[in-house]
Amino acid sequence: MNPAELQVVSEEPPQQSAQEEPPHRHGTRRAALWADVPDAQWNDWRWQLSHRLNSLEELSQIINLTPEEVEGCRSAHFRVDITPYFASLIDPDDPNCPIRRQVIPTGRELTAFAGMYEDSLNEDGHSPVPGLVHRYPDRVLMLVTTQCASYCRYCTRSRIVGDAAAQFSRSDYDRQIEYIAATPQIRDVLLSGGDPLVLPPKILEDILRRLRAIEHVEIIRLGSRVPVFMPQRITPELVAMLRQFHPLWLNIHFNHAQELTPEVSQALGLLADAGIPLGAQTVLLAGVNDSVEVMKELVHKLVRNRVRPYYLYQCDLVEGAGHFRTTVSKGIEIIEGLRGHTSGYAIPTYVVDAPGGGGKIPVMPQYLISQAPGKVVLRNFEGFITTYDEPNDYSGHTVARPEHAAADDEPDQPGVYGLLAGQRSHIKPEGFDRTHARLGSVTWDPAPLTMTVAPVNGNGKHRI
Ligand SMILES: *Cc1c(COP(=O)(O)O)cnc(C)c1O
Repeated sequence: MNPAELQVVSEEPPQQSAQEEPPHRHGTRRAALWADVPDAQWNDWRWQLSHRLNSLEELSQIINLTPEEVEGCRSAHFRVDITPYFASLIDPDDPNCPIRRQVIPTGRELTAFAGMYEDSLNEDGHSPVPGLVHRYPDRVLMLVTTQCASYCRYCTRSRIVGDAAAQFSRSDYDRQIEYIAATPQIRDVLLSGGDPLVLPPKILEDILRRLRAIEHVEIIRLGSRVPVFMPQRITPELVAMLRQFHPLWLNIHFNHAQELTPEVSQALGLLADAGIPLGAQTVLLAGVNDSVEVMKELVHKLVRNRVRPYYLYQCDLVEGAGHFRTTVSKGIEIIEGLRGHTSGYAIPTYVVDAPGGGGKIPVMPQYLISQAPGKVVLRNFEGFITTYDEPNDYSGHTVARPEHAAADDEPDQPGVYGLLAGQRSHIKPEGFDRTHARLGSVTWDPAPLTMTVAPVNGNGKHRI
């Protein structure tokens, strides 16, 4: 992809409607504490960042804190910081307010639970250089900052996020970018953190420019919650900077329809008008969005704002998040309540990010209910049961593997697909051979059973 081609679109002037009317006039009610703040300050993201609430005293000026929240504020292990804008969305008198539950700590955060980890996704174990997580064959997660505009109580990366002493430096970026440049199989770089959109604009631009200069990096993605916590940050200048680096995608963390205020809609409009494809990532949270009705309202509002729901995550097994966890069946029930009932565009993929570093595993209701040679039995969202007759003369279509695809190979990781493609006959868990090498027995070596036959899938190997 030639980025120069895509820059042609950037010649139209940035949308100016943002200047015509200060967004709060038709937008979010400010908490009384900030009633006298001039609009120019309220709408300035730097003002929002420097006036964040983080102490019990500050929070109790705008919220009637419960004893459990007071305990949480006094003893939280994980940083508290909330922008005045986001704090204004909190219902001061409702302890169950879904906005409030995401950012105000409670004493329940301190409760340990079975299966709890510090780094539940084993990201550190997949980091070839600090801050770079290379978990999948062709893409990397690049952590560029530990700072966010506000802090989510269930943060999956609370082991590093929010710690002002654990910042990434210029030399960390250098090493991350060097690794990417030296690893041609990486075609997709996902910037996250922390939140990349709180970086000083020049630093973010420099990282994007250096990534864009790497020929094999096809797409760049940002993962951010800034549009939700601080829509003031999405200025025409920021958007003009981002659009230079197309193809650039943005995934935004949304959990509840109440987060889609007029200010946020306007920010999303600016981003979408700049040709940035927008996705949403949502964490399934007990007491916040664990119902079909809440989730349906959220996904409908997202697609109306040109945001495509991408992932719905099962809450990770991370310290502080125990009380936010739901059963997996709740997530399946939510997908059951969406699929078929609403636009396919509005339905995210529900995933469990596997503890121990297995990566994202999609989970969904079972629609394939039986099968026999030549026939599958399926059910739809209404419970209508049907059969699909498969062709009995289908033999598949194979295409020679293109030269450049060799760079994508991870020889040790053919996956379950490798079983289907005949590259392997089985996958063994670690320690399997040791367990089964009982006294005197030999380990079965499948290699002698492999013979070469006419090329299939370009690899020439078939099992007999
Ligand atoms: C989620 C994630 C990605 C991106 O996964 P996609 O399914 O391509 O969105 C990449 N690396 C890591 C470590 C991740 O956790």
